[in-house]
Amino acid sequence: MNQQRMLRRWSLFGKTPRPQGGLTAAAESQGDDIPMAVPKKKTSKSRRDMRRSHDGLPTAGISVCPQCKEPKLPHRVCPACGSYKGKEVLENKSE
Ligand SMILES: [Zn+2]
Repeated sequence: MNQQRMLRRWSLFGKTPRPQGGLTAAAESQGDDIPMAVPKKKTSKSRRDMRRSHDGLPTAGISVCPQCKEPKLPHRVCPACGSYKGKEVLENKSE
């Protein structure tokens, strides 16, 4: 079989002959004739939405400042009175 006919035959499989001993790293990274992975089926709205069911951000916890009873984020200095663990940490705050 001559070169032309061999190439035509291989093209039917979407492949071209590989060099002996597999592809080199350079040829592999180019990905010339390696087919891209393609999903077999369209993802349905149901499957898509089920996948996204865990994508939402969790609600931030809210604790109450023991000093001024204002709601604040846990493990943070109170923005209202500037205290943390019963001690005043920030100045320029009332109280
Ligand atoms: Zn406070």
